[in-house]
Amino acid sequence: MTLVSGWGRFPVVDSDVLRPRSFEAVGEAMVSGTVARGNGRAYGDAAIGAVRTVTMMGFDRIRWFDPVTGRIRLEAGVLLSDLIDTFGPRGFLPFVLPGTRFVSIGGAVAADVHGKNHHCEGGFGRYVDAILLRTGEGEVIEASREQNSDAFFATIGGMGLTGMILEATLRLRKVETGWIRERVISASDLDAAMRALDAGDAATYSVAWIDCAARGKDLGRSLIYLGEHAGKNELPAGAAPFHAGKDSGLGVPIDLPSMTLNRFSILAFNELYYRMGARRAGGSHVVSLYPYFFPLDSIADWNRIYGRRGFLQHQCVIPENGARDVLGEILDRVARRGDASFLRC
Ligand SMILES: Cc1cc2nc3c(=O)[nH]c(=O)nc-3n(C[C@H](O)[C@H](O)[C@H](O)COP(=O)(O)OP(=O)(O)OC[C@H]3O[C@@H](n4cnc5c(N)ncnc54)[C@H](O)[C@@H]3O)c2cc1C
Repeated sequence: MTLVSGWGRFPVVDSDVLRPRSFEAVGEAMVSGTVARGNGRAYGDAAIGAVRTVTMMGFDRIRWFDPVTGRIRLEAGVLLSDLIDTFGPRGFLPFVLPGTRFVSIGGAVAADVHGKNHHCEGGFGRYVDAILLRTGEGEVIEASREQNSDAFFATIGGMGLTGMILEATLRLRKVETGWIRERVISASDLDAAMRALDAGDAATYSVAWIDCAARGKDLGRSLIYLGEHAGKNELPAGAAPFHAGKDSGLGVPIDLPSMTLNRFSILAFNELYYRMGARRAGGSHVVSLYPYFFPLDSIADWNRIYGRRGFLQHQCVIPENGARDVLGEILDRVARRGDASFLRC
């Protein structure tokens, strides 16, 4: 038995972890109470089996790629980072990129992950054409919108509950460069943030970092990042068309004491982050792919900042009607309790 947790490092569960090397072995590993695991980036316990956890990261081959259509067939353990680094320089990127690139194809399909373009492109599953699935009944089936469509739609966003995704066929987006034209908008409170997000609705990518520690007149103050794929003629002089960017090379080598992130350190960090971001606000500039899409990946093992006890992430979807008040109430409670986060995904 092995102790396993998600990216939030809570809960930690004793599970029988297997890493099969063949599709037959996947079938043999599946007993009642088995849960598939990709790269373990789900924050909570979604990728932990109470009885057995089957990690699919041993399946990391690219089966084929069609450069005319941008269609690609991959095994479930291929990481989005590998896909970006291999096909970005050839002018192709996934349509939907979540806030970390260290996500497996199986995990991206199972969670139907969303990106900063959810308002235009929908979830990852929209660009999945087919999957090869090992069902709980012991069958290996090819499923698509036309064939075994019930299994196909139940598996996209199905969180691994329909069986093990072995392979997937995706459509990739053709891009001229790997750079993003970014426009930063600083919003001094929640109303301004919501107005800016509404006004930026036509942007291909949009995301807000909200200062969850701010209260009173500053409640909901935000930095809004809008983005478009940049053309070759927009790049800095001498820049390669595909330069994904560099991570900081920094990492968190040990579990920091749980009190490192407290009301005061987060207040100070958020104040600084907001002020620095507000200074960049206004015009647009071109940034490379990694810092725009994956700012958190820049620091390896950043989840250790929260200490050994780990952390919980709360995500919610709020109907548009009344969203301002509900969001305001959530932010106010978070700020009053001192539970704010400093993260920008
Ligand atoms: C810094 C950070 C930023 C993030 N940003 C976003 C974001 O912007 N948008 C978003 O949607 N998510 C985001 N996430 C969450 C993450 O994208 C998802 O949890 C994703 O599913 C993780 O993929 P994984 O390969 O690590 O899968 P795991 O975490 O290992 O598993 C996730 C789920 O997928 C299932 N699964 C995994 N592989 C298979 C398989 N082969 N067959 C069947 N089921 C499988 C598991 O059972 C589990 O239910 C973020 C996470 C982090 C850490």
